[in-house]
Amino acid sequence: MRIQSIEAIPLVRKLEDVFQGGTYKITTRNTIVVRVVLDNGVVGEIFGGDEDQYQLDVCRIVNEIYCPLLVGQDVRDVEKNWERMWFTRIDLNNRGIHALDLAKHCVETQAIAAVDNACWDALGRALKQPVYKLLGGYRERVPVLAIGGYVMAGKTLADLQSEVEYYKQQGIFGMKLKVGHLSVEEDIERTRAARRAAGPNFHLCVDANQAWTVEQAVQFARGVRDLDLAWLEEPVRWHDQIEGNARVRTVGIPVNAGQGEISRHGCRDLIVRGAVDILNVDVTIAAGVTEWRRIAAMAHAFGVKMAHHEEPQIALHLLAAVPNGLHVEIFPNYQRDPMWYDLPVQQPTIRDGFMYLPDQPGFGILLRQDTIDRWRMH
Ligand SMILES: [Mg+2]
Repeated sequence: MRIQSIEAIPLVRKLEDVFQGGTYKITTRNTIVVRVVLDNGVVGEIFGGDEDQYQLDVCRIVNEIYCPLLVGQDVRDVEKNWERMWFTRIDLNNRGIHALDLAKHCVETQAIAAVDNACWDALGRALKQPVYKLLGGYRERVPVLAIGGYVMAGKTLADLQSEVEYYKQQGIFGMKLKVGHLSVEEDIERTRAARRAAGPNFHLCVDANQAWTVEQAVQFARGVRDLDLAWLEEPVRWHDQIEGNARVRTVGIPVNAGQGEISRHGCRDLIVRGAVDILNVDVTIAAGVTEWRRIAAMAHAFGVKMAHHEEPQIALHLLAAVPNGLHVEIFPNYQRDPMWYDLPVQQPTIRDGFMYLPDQPGFGILLRQDTIDRWRMH
């Protein structure tokens, strides 16, 4: 089961609409397909990430540095292979940026993640086991959330309510509403409208994407305290994730954060300093399945739950494998995430609010070569 080759393939696709979150707007869907070939003929292949700015850097690190580093290694040695990547020093030729700049490290952890995730797929296929079984096999289905409630040109409160009703009709377990782009007062009004449309038995949470000061986040939390929100996601600006989120938690709504963390060390600090009830660490950013499972185990010891930022093709297996796993999330509209619909030959089954684990080895998803060829960057 030795690694014969590793290849990262960047894909990019322009979206037809502009999707506005709290601190950004989405105009393209990027992702990276990574293919790992073993010497016994097994091929692991999975897509992951939505990196725009550094996408080609991530692929270059995989193809030019990690591939030669790991060729000849046993794919079963996941911890050893991970450490070989983790301790490799990489020069991105960005001397204009401070040596400790987080962006540089984020590029590296995305590249480690890309390789590590594809190796887990190869390992599962080689052993003829689904990844969630290799990781622990805690549940056979995971509740599914819709990521929605974007601010879009001309979109009214009635439109937002229709969107919520659409998700309910689709049989989705709950919804994440984007806040943080408008005023706090307008977002309180939008959240109230969403809850009215959803009714009481619908998992409603909000995501500010680090848009607010602590004071704004507390103001929002107090204004929606009676709405039974499942969580408030990334309420506080990027520079105040620990003390800031800890203060927001005192209002009484669970705080979910961590999708921007790139290692277990940052997650450790969020946990032990009381900044989070839930961590939504992203396996395509924070150094892959091998690091995510360490973080999940650490979180479990402190009573912190695990969510996941997007990437259902991998997150489904992670959340099904650990006792403190929560929901998998998807964009249930083709316009926002055409890759989710076009890349896999078949998506996992969604029924009665749950996504079911595929019974196939690895991540259980085969990718369409014609889709890869069509959107490949040259
Ligand atoms: Mg988020």
